[in-house]
Amino acid sequence: MLITLASKARAAYAPLCGGAAHVLEGASLIGLYAPYSEVKMNMIERIVSEEKKKIPLEERLTTPEDREKFAKLQQRAREVEAMLFRAYPTPSLERAMTLTSSERVLRELLALANDARDFSRQYRGFHVGAVLIGLRNTKETKDNPWAVLFNANTKPPKYCAEAYVMDELDESRTDIYHALAFVVVAEPQVDDDSKVTQVTLTPCKSCRTRMLEMSKAENPTVFADTEIITADSRHMGFRKFQKVEDLQHFHKEYTDIE
Ligand SMILES: [Zn+2]
Repeated sequence: MLITLASKARAAYAPLCGGAAHVLEGASLIGLYAPYSEVKMNMIERIVSEEKKKIPLEERLTTPEDREKFAKLQQRAREVEAMLFRAYPTPSLERAMTLTSSERVLRELLALANDARDFSRQYRGFHVGAVLIGLRNTKETKDNPWAVLFNANTKPPKYCAEAYVMDELDESRTDIYHALAFVVVAEPQVDDDSKVTQVTLTPCKSCRTRMLEMSKAENPTVFADTEIITADSRHMGFRKFQKVEDLQHFHKEYTDIE
């Protein structure tokens, strides 16, 4: 095949240029580009198939160290839930809303999101950790309605920490009926779509669109006033507080204005 193509290329060059140098040029042109495109096709096929594999965090842990780290983080998440339950055994949404402005709770949630970055699998070294705090349905008053989830980004497959957490909500794996806040910790970078750089990394276009869509669903678990608390992993004091309904505004995407 290569020989045929090479000789065709040589034939095409021959009438115009002639000479041995151009014969070699014809052969090397095909020789270089044909394997490259095969590699590229394989890469595309691999990426497409990996895109479909969005694996829950627990199944992404490969080493005993990872599993141990995960168990510790799970334990810390349960401790935050217990702390909240002690403070608010019957949380009303109004109370819960102000609770995410509590410095103590905030610090715990930010630390959890920051430590969840250890579970990020990202070839560029861009690590994002996300925590979701919400309220889950309970059968009895002795049951704790507070829920704290965490996750991290992967690439490949290209998938955000927030998206993994939203999957858990969507798939009703958690029984959470109200997401109070997403907490995201990472190094800020320019937004791929809006080209806006904020003081912290805020959810990408795909995530902010999904959050907004979830808030408009028939039985929403995410709401327009669900908080988006973001912090810079290098300086955890740099924080930004937004709500789902603000996200597009900050990226100058006024899609709701007809
Ligand atoms: Zn995203």
